[in-house]
Amino acid sequence: MENRKYTIHGPGLTEETKKEVSDFIAGYDDIDFLGPIKGEIQKPAEIEQMILEINQYREEIATELGLSKPIPIRVGQVHLLPPFVFNERYPNSPDSAEGLHENLGHGIFIKYKEYNSPELLKMFLLHEGIHMDSYHAYFTRNQNDNPIDSLSGQTRSGYSTSTPYKERESNYLNGFNEAVVQKITWEKIRIHLIRMKTNMSYENEIAVLDSLIKKIAIRYNEEEAEVWRRIKIGLFTGEMMHLRRINKTYGPKALEVLAMLTDEYGIITEKVQKYFQTDDLKERLKIEEELLSKTK
Ligand SMILES: [Zn+2]
Repeated sequence: MENRKYTIHGPGLTEETKKEVSDFIAGYDDIDFLGPIKGEIQKPAEIEQMILEINQYREEIATELGLSKPIPIRVGQVHLLPPFVFNERYPNSPDSAEGLHENLGHGIFIKYKEYNSPELLKMFLLHEGIHMDSYHAYFTRNQNDNPIDSLSGQTRSGYSTSTPYKERESNYLNGFNEAVVQKITWEKIRIHLIRMKTNMSYENEIAVLDSLIKKIAIRYNEEEAEVWRRIKIGLFTGEMMHLRRINKTYGPKALEVLAMLTDEYGIITEKVQKYFQTDDLKERLKIEEELLSKTK
């Protein structure tokens, strides 16, 4: 099987240490990850068929974008957890979270509710599968600590970057990243599952993304589909240079405003949404000032 490739970041790391950490991570990728998990629900017989379908979708997405084939999800990687077990495992995850991709070993954990339809389960699996395909980097500390012990999985996933070396871990572009992941998921799953009449999750974040696409397309005289395609490719390849177009379109602090979009709905989401939707420059600057003064 093809190996995944990640960048290892951290202060004062030698090439040797980076290699040691890479090998450790690769070891995790080789095992049929983490089973069984305490409290997990026995997977229904249909899960195997579902995962085959999800792998097929992931391949189609990669092919459409001209990227290499993703590594298939294996049944052992997927774990269905009742909501209380899920919440115990991830006490900091928002109530709205329906699943989580663990970056070390790529376990996929789904908050399993019996009333959820198989279509919904597929949507959650595909969403987490896309996170898995867009994982780029790990962070570890220098030699003085054991680099394996201080390994943090939280460095770079798609467009979302986090800074574990600061006192409090902070996420950058997390909401934007979720919007991109869910929009790709929805595009794929909608074609296959027309009868799914459900809300598509991250609707507010996707509304921001849609406004961005529209306005960048106008500014650069491009088709919206072309702008969207570039954003999708960047999620999987880690190419982020095109994000500069956001500032060129909206103003020099637009990316800072976008970074404030989290994956939890609230007043900030509303303001960020307004910022990217309005054509009124004065209004935009006013929102910018309000939002950015909070971070100082
Ligand atoms: Zn997600």
